[in-house]
Amino acid sequence: MNKRWTIEKIREFVEKNSESKLLTTEYHGFSQKLLFKCACGNNFEKPFKKFKDNHQRKCEVCQPPKSSR
Ligand SMILES: [Zn+2]
Repeated sequence: MNKRWTIEKIREFVEKNSESKLLTTEYHGFSQKLLFKCACGNNFEKPFKKFKDNHQRKCEVCQPPKSSR
């Protein structure tokens, strides 16, 4: 399924599915890095694909990148 994402839909997804907030205001594609604000106050960058598919929805402090499990 090839769903078309817009920045509005992404912001909605972010607000519904995480405690982070979307700071980026323009969306250019799945590989683009978007700027988020974590619930802890840190800003972090991540492509939406990773945010959504890999459940990387927090900054690296709250959610360290290494996943051994
Ligand atoms: Zn954080």
